[in-house]
Amino acid sequence: MLRTVITATATAALGLAVGCAPDTGAPVKVSALVLNSNGEYVPQEVELKTVSDIISLNGSVADFRGGARIVLDSEDQDLATATTPEAFANALLKEKGHDVKASYIEQDGVLWPADFHTWNMVTAYHGLERAFDYFQTVGNIPSADFKKPVTTYYFPEFVLADVDKDPQRDNALYFSVMESFLVLPFDQLQRAPLAINAGIIAHEYSHRVYNLKVYNGQAFPQTLSLWSTSTPSPGANILKSFDEGLADYHAYGTTCRTTTGCDPRFFNTSFHDDPYDDIATARDLSNTSRCMTDNLRTQLNNQGLGEFSGKEYTVGTLLATALYQAGQNAGQREVLMRAVVAAYSDTNPQTPGLRQLSEQYLNEQGKFTLAVAAGAIITHVTDPKLKEAVCNELMDHLQIPRDELVGTPNPNLCPPSSLPGTTCPTLTTEG
Ligand SMILES: [Zn+2]
Repeated sequence: MLRTVITATATAALGLAVGCAPDTGAPVKVSALVLNSNGEYVPQEVELKTVSDIISLNGSVADFRGGARIVLDSEDQDLATATTPEAFANALLKEKGHDVKASYIEQDGVLWPADFHTWNMVTAYHGLERAFDYFQTVGNIPSADFKKPVTTYYFPEFVLADVDKDPQRDNALYFSVMESFLVLPFDQLQRAPLAINAGIIAHEYSHRVYNLKVYNGQAFPQTLSLWSTSTPSPGANILKSFDEGLADYHAYGTTCRTTTGCDPRFFNTSFHDDPYDDIATARDLSNTSRCMTDNLRTQLNNQGLGEFSGKEYTVGTLLATALYQAGQNAGQREVLMRAVVAAYSDTNPQTPGLRQLSEQYLNEQGKFTLAVAAGAIITHVTDPKLKEAVCNELMDHLQIPRDELVGTPNPNLCPPSSLPGTTCPTLTTEG
């Protein structure tokens, strides 16, 4: 039976005091939209463990903000004259927005969203909390490393003035410049708006973790900024490709911790219909026959970041599917996921992370090759069987030359028994 109606919006509008507001702190039982085994998002009772205010959706993982306006415009003088990342972020934010106000109906101790936006926001918060939990538990990242709650702009007006005068739609993104998530209004993607798709929310959360670890939390990552000013920019192209591929890989990892189990096709529920269905197909991690091509490798090595834009997903998917297969075949999925997170940053000179390697080659990005970047992952895999599986899949699908991974004393990354699989044709050009 429906008992208590808690509608913060209505009470505020009428000037009434909230006389019997519930205890809004964590843990709180709410109904959110969760994927069931039929591929549908249906109401399911979940517990939010990190929320401190269920009405404004504020907690240790995320802090929701509504009504913001964010404009990126190359003609904007405020942006041109900003001298610090903070000033730049402030100049982007034309309207700061306000706390969101979720509305619920309480039924037997469970809060049921009372309107569409509350369903959407609670489900997004739950997705962010699941991703946080994955990186803490599987990724072994200490709580303190996550820094402050991530400001999450809900349905902001996000204008990329150089591209389109109208606000962007149908996207969810981690915007490192503002250290924030943006959950944009939807237009075409109504079947499962991106805020509802926990896999997509986890993909964005993974970008946040990659930024914190590989880029040391910099709003304008030093390596990426410097490397992308030259053409070609192979190091920048590889950093971006790893960022995208590993975001899909970890998003897949979060799906394995749900009642419906691992879902390598998590994009499918949002990008099901034309013209978006090709995204779901292109990023399906369980497709085991993807291969680096001569053409793609030439582009990776010879294009600047702008020209390469879009192909970081293709290269990233090759990496993600290679890791997916290695983890599955060795029966060590979570062990490998933890090793991948450990590879982001490691100050041990014997096992340098992506951050340390990219900083080491700051002035010679050509040395930050696929083999070097993949090497950061390989050195963090300790189990010999799993290490060999990772090496074999990377040599096969990414076509990393064997002699860049195997051999003593250098490079000494992969065991001598490693041999590329035979799924992909061997490339003839130089790597
Ligand atoms: Zn992404």
